[in-house]
Amino acid sequence: MSPVDYHLHTRLCGHASGELEEYLEQAVRLGIREVGFSDHLPLYFLPPGKTIPDYAMGEEELPLYVEMVQNCARKFPLRVSLGIEADYVPGCEKKLAALLSRYPFDYVIGSVHFLDGWGFDNPAEMEEYSRRDLDRVYEEYFALVQQAALSGLFDIIAHPDLIKKFGFQPGLDLSPLYEETARAFRRAGVCAEVNSAGLRYPAGEIYPSLGLLKCFFKHGVPVTLGSDAHCPEQVGAGLPEALRLLREAGYREVTLFSARKRRILEIAGYCK
Ligand SMILES: [Zn+2]
Ligand SMILES: [Zn+2]
Repeated sequence: MSPVDYHLHTRLCGHASGELEEYLEQAVRLGIREVGFSDHLPLYFLPPGKTIPDYAMGEEELPLYVEMVQNCARKFPLRVSLGIEADYVPGCEKKLAALLSRYPFDYVIGSVHFLDGWGFDNPAEMEEYSRRDLDRVYEEYFALVQQAALSGLFDIIAHPDLIKKFGFQPGLDLSPLYEETARAFRRAGVCAEVNSAGLRYPAGEIYPSLGLLKCFFKHGVPVTLGSDAHCPEQVGAGLPEALRLLREAGYREVTLFSARKRRILEIAGYCK
C-alpha cells in the first residue's frame, strides 16, 4: 500500500459520504502513514447568490471543516494534514488568494474543472463533448492547467489530464501539449498530482497518463499521491498502481507538505 494519500474529501462538499473518522479508520487499516484532507473549497468564483448544488462546502462551513480536520487528526495514529482543493478560475485570483490566506492549510491543490463555465468532468454536462472539436477542447484544457500552475496560488495541480475522464480522445498528437505543460509546472515550481481516480471512470487509467508523467519527470517536476476518495472505501484505492506508474516514469520519491513547506518521502520500499 501507498504510505500516503493526499486527496480525501468529506461529506461537507455534498457529493461525498462518510465521516472524517471513517476515512481515517480506513487509512489506518490499510497501513497508510500520512493522509491529507483536501475537500472542495467554497465556490468563491460565483457571483453572490449563485451556487452549484452539491459541488462544494458552503462558505460558512469552511471554518468548521478546518476545525474538524484538526480535531480528528489528534485521535488517530497517523499524520493528518490540512489541505484544500480549490478550483482555478481565471480572473478570480485575488478573491481566491484572500480566502486561502485566512486558514492554516498545509497545502493547496489547484484544480481545473471548468472551461469557460462548462463543467467538463460533470456527467450531467458530458453531452457537450459531442458538440465540440475535441482537439480544441484538449488545447484549451491544457492551456488553463498551465495558467493555474503559473498563478502561484497552488502547491499542487490536481489530476493534470482530467480532460480524459470520460474517454474522449482527440486526434491531436498530445506530446507538444505535455511538453509545454511540464515546462510550465517546472517554471511555476508546483507539484503534479498522481491521482488514481481515473481508474474508476471510463478513462480507465491514472491521471496523469504515463506519457505526461514521463514528461514531468524529465523536467524535474515533483509529484504527490492521492486517491480523490469521495467515500471511506476509496481511501488508498488505486495507489499501488499509481506507485508502479511513478516507478516506471523514473520517480523515486513523492512530496509531502507541512504549512506549505515541502518534505520528501522515498517510495522505494513501497513499490512491488
Ligand atoms: Zn469532488
Ligand atoms: Zn478531488
